Amino acid sequence: MIIHLPKNISCTQVQELANNIGALCLEQAEQFVLITNHMTKQLPTDLKDIALQHWIFDSDMQLSSRQYLAETHRITLGDTYIGGDQKNQLMIAGPCAVESREQIEQSCQMLQQQGIRILRAGCYKPRTSPYTFRGLGEDGLKLLAEMREKYGVLIATEMRDATHADKVIEYADIIQIGAKSMYDHGLLAAAGKSGKPVILKRGFGTTLQEFVNCADFIMSCGNDQVILCERGIRSFETNTRFTLDLCGVAWLKEHCNLPIIIDPSHAMGYAYGIGDLARACTAMGVDGLLIETHPNPTCAQSDSAQQLDHQQFVHMYASLQPIANAIGKKLV
Ligand code: PEP
Ligand code: MN
Repeated sequence: MIIHLPKNISCTQVQELANNIGALCLEQAEQFVLITNHMTKQLPTDLKDIALQHWIFDSDMQLSSRQYLAETHRITLGDTYIGGDQKNQLMIAGPCAVESREQIEQSCQMLQQQGIRILRAGCYKPRTSPYTFRGLGEDGLKLLAEMREKYGVLIATEMRDATHADKVIEYADIIQIGAKSMYDHGLLAAAGKSGKPVILKRGFGTTLQEFVNCADFIMSCGNDQVILCERGIRSFETNTRFTLDLCGVAWLKEHCNLPIIIDPSHAMGYAYGIGDLARACTAMGVDGLLIETHPNPTCAQSDSAQQLDHQQFVHMYASLQPIANAIGKKLV
């Protein structure tokens, strides 16, 4: 249950009320917000006279639920936004990993020519094998910070585990929590306290309910700037890397108040499918796409097969425009 209390009560009194009913307490500009688990179906008697409004839920998808907030959260990203009136479709693009100054600089030049504001690139890569490239670590973050200065791009980069959480929070404009780390409550709490926008990627074996519960973990730390990212789930099919769950995206659009972006690159696993998928996702009216592109994919140190070269990327991006126009969205 979510309960709104007025601001004219003292913090200590609110904390006492929260403790009495085992609730978590958030302070917002207009009100105090108490949140109990969804098993609470009746307004506790202590709160009957003072509660402004309350909401009862069937699950612990609470702060992220449209039942609580019908509109989609608006998330400001530099000079643009996603969510809110949902007029924008955001492009987040760049290589899987930062590999060198030359590679990341070429990536920024291409983004700049295309008017794309957000560079994605990992410095702490979660890998399937311990014998493969795991990212440049802080040296990579420093290169990304230089690119922000030089090209004015915003940086989206992954926080993989607690060993470097502080560093990523310091350098990133948008913190990415990847599919393999999305259950890490330490990371969710760190992202929740960071005050920065967070891209939360769905684990490949994660139900939609588990996914939105993780979003609620971040939001219950006081950060509602959460962007959900569908990136493919594991199915019986092995010819593609994962299976892009567009039914899941439709469910999220209906039930969840957070912007939703789609990453066709990790879902497909091969460059040849990305253009078709990006167009299909655009037609679906999502809030954004996250696409891997590399100046020379054959030499990429991670996710080589799925990264578009720059020419392929530019071609794909141009092909989204008429679809976006047709559904009244602006590519940003
Ligand atoms: C990535 O974005 O490079 C990545 C590792 O993605 P995921 O967490 O979806 O596997
Ligand atoms: Mn990748």
